[in-house]
Amino acid sequence: MRFAINDGQRIEATPRATGRCPGCNAELIAKCGTKKVWHWAHKGLRHCDHWWENETQWHRDWKSHFPVDWQEIAARDEHGELHIADVKTPKGLAVEFQHSYLRSDEARKRTRFHQPMFWIVDGLRRKTDHSQFLRALADGFKHPTKDGLVHQLWIHDSRLLKEWVHVGVIVAFDFGEDTLWVLRRIKNDWIYGFMYPKSKLVGHILEGTAIPDILFGEPARSRPCRARF
Ligand SMILES: [Zn+2]
Repeated sequence: MRFAINDGQRIEATPRATGRCPGCNAELIAKCGTKKVWHWAHKGLRHCDHWWENETQWHRDWKSHFPVDWQEIAARDEHGELHIADVKTPKGLAVEFQHSYLRSDEARKRTRFHQPMFWIVDGLRRKTDHSQFLRALADGFKHPTKDGLVHQLWIHDSRLLKEWVHVGVIVAFDFGEDTLWVLRRIKNDWIYGFMYPKSKLVGHILEGTAIPDILFGEPARSRPCRARF
C-alpha cells in the first residue's frame, strides 16, 4: 500500500518508517527496495484485503492525480470483509486501477461492492493487447457525432474487451497514451466507446462531474457525446 497511518497522518513508506494499516490497524513494514515501488506491507504474507493487487508505478501514477485522503479508502462488506478502494471521492465514487488479470466474475463481484465505481485497466501489461485492440478498431464501425467519433467494436476481436465489457460500469483502457479508450455501452456482442483525454477524465473525477455518455437514438443535444444506432 502507498499509505500507512502514523500519528493520525497518512505517510508514505520510507526506510525505517513505522505505521499501521488504514484498513485493519495492523503494524506495517516499510518496504523500500529497488525492484518494486516503495510500499507498506503487512507483516505476514496475507494482506487484510485479499483483493489487494501489488502496486506498480502505473498504479502510483494514477493515484497521484488525486488528493492523498481520497486514496486507499477501506470499507467493509455486509459480511465484515474489508476491501480498500484505490481511489474514492467524497461523493462516494470509487475508481479501481487494474493491472493484473482479473476473472470477469471476480471483476463483477468487486464492481458490486464498490458501486458507484468504474475501472481503469492497464492495457500494456500483455504484449498483444494493444495491437489486438487496434485491429478490433480497424475492423469496427465508426459513427461520427457532433462531439466526435464513436467506435463500435466486436467484443470477440479483442481479449481485453472480452474480459472487461460485462462488468456493467464504465471501463477505460490505458495504453500509455494521453488519451484513454472509454467503453460505455454494450449491445449484444458490440461495445461502444470513444477516445477521451486522460486529463479530462481525471478532471471529471476531481470535480465530481459526469463522464460523457453515448446515447442510443435519444436526442440529447446537451450531452457531450451522442450517437444514433
Ligand atoms: Zn491491513
